[in-house]
Amino acid sequence: MTAALHDATHPSAEPMELLRAMLEEQFAVHTARLTQLTVYARLPRHGGYDPRTLDGLAESSRQRIAQTAHALKRMSEGTYGTCADCHKPIPLGRLRAMPHATNCAFCERRRPETLVNEG
Ligand SMILES: [Zn+2]
Repeated sequence: MTAALHDATHPSAEPMELLRAMLEEQFAVHTARLTQLTVYARLPRHGGYDPRTLDGLAESSRQRIAQTAHALKRMSEGTYGTCADCHKPIPLGRLRAMPHATNCAFCERRRPETLVNEG
């Protein structure tokens, strides 16, 4: 009896709601991080950070915020979970690992920036 309660996975839970919660959490986390980094940048000696490191961290947080906001927008438009290139559904496993993914793994590999000396 208690073993079932201990299991945190609920197969009946709506995957979309789970992914939305993950995206909202990431959005909140990265917004908070960016705010923190902005505060550090204004501090004398940048709170002990190297200014370039701060810039890099802020930039990656900004990118993640944009990707996450984009994913939430697609969710509200009903296009979330569909590959932007081939328009096939992105596998749920991939979305769980990368809720902001806009491409299926196949198209992601075909993208020029990840294509390394093929052919
Ligand atoms: Zn695709």
